[in-house]
Amino acid sequence: MESFVDYVKIYCRAGKGGDGLVSWRREKYVDKGGPAGGDGGKGGSIYVVGDKQLNTLLHLKYTKFVKAPTGERGGKMCKAGKSGEDVFLKVPLGTVIKDADTGEIIGEILQDKQKILIAKGGRGGRGNWHFKNSVRQAPNFAEKGKPGEERTVIMELKLLADVGLVGFPNAGKSTLISVLSAAKPKIGNYPFTTITPNLGTVFISEYETFVIADIPGIIKNAHKGKGLGLRFLRHIERNAVLLFVIPADSDDIANEYQTLLNELKQYNPELLNKPRMLALSKSDLLDEELKQEVEKELQQTLKDNIEYIFISSFTKENINTLKRKLYNLVREQKQNELS
Ligand code: GDP
Ligand code: MG
Repeated sequence: MESFVDYVKIYCRAGKGGDGLVSWRREKYVDKGGPAGGDGGKGGSIYVVGDKQLNTLLHLKYTKFVKAPTGERGGKMCKAGKSGEDVFLKVPLGTVIKDADTGEIIGEILQDKQKILIAKGGRGGRGNWHFKNSVRQAPNFAEKGKPGEERTVIMELKLLADVGLVGFPNAGKSTLISVLSAAKPKIGNYPFTTITPNLGTVFISEYETFVIADIPGIIKNAHKGKGLGLRFLRHIERNAVLLFVIPADSDDIANEYQTLLNELKQYNPELLNKPRMLALSKSDLLDEELKQEVEKELQQTLKDNIEYIFISSFTKENINTLKRKLYNLVREQKQNELS
């Protein structure tokens, strides 16, 4: 089975440790007191942390470089410098993290809030008070902070489609997916891309995304293993929700729908238990009057009460409504799976 991968590559540089300080105790009547230069603070580290609400790595797609802050220099009177704050990169569960140079797998995020260290912050340098001993009363030196680790990581997430499109060739599936996944969110500039031509991530907000797969047309007798059909039917098996796509100007929509259902059923009857919706595509080809006729006809001919919606990838009719409806179905389905 084909799997689709969401992929980001990020250069990470942890913070350098702060330098240790050379300084002397100031006391009344003492010209030069003992050494009292504090230690430098630790540099900030960079971690990856699991966030169960995320579904994709899209929010990191354009992050090429992450660095954590430096630790502060040691202070007077043996005061340690402040540590640099750690940086946490949120990723969805199932993200595999690799070292880009060696290919070594650093770890896999499987749980919410699970942390994996990517680049450790440098140690702070010791201040001069550390170096005093019986023969060296006044060490005139301190340590420099150590550099933070640097590492280029690759993060990969296997995407499983949440919504599978089911329809004959030319129904408008590929066009629909490009329209659904092309939307640019309003907040910030968060450029959007389809990961592969037949898979896209639909974005509503950072925490409301789902993956939709354009499964090349089910050919008749797909269940018998002819052509591409079987391979792609396997792919649908994993899909949480099915979206049937039938052109609104088809001669017999109900019949076409029944044929598609039969194909699925003969392949695996369990597929019919998945939530499903019907998109009547290319609705721009119909005027209002025709749409009403189609609806009337569907009320009489459709054998189940599948929800249907007229959509057009060209005029964008109902595209946002469809997005929202699909998202709600996906979410319900996921909640059912968990309970
Ligand atoms: P697929 O085989 O199901 O992936 O179908 P495609 O997305 O490749 O589309 C098949 C044909 O239908 C192409 O010529 C598209 O330009 C056309 N098409 C797709 N969406 C629409 C639409 O919303 N309105 C109209 N009028 N044509 C469409
Ligand atoms: Mg196509």
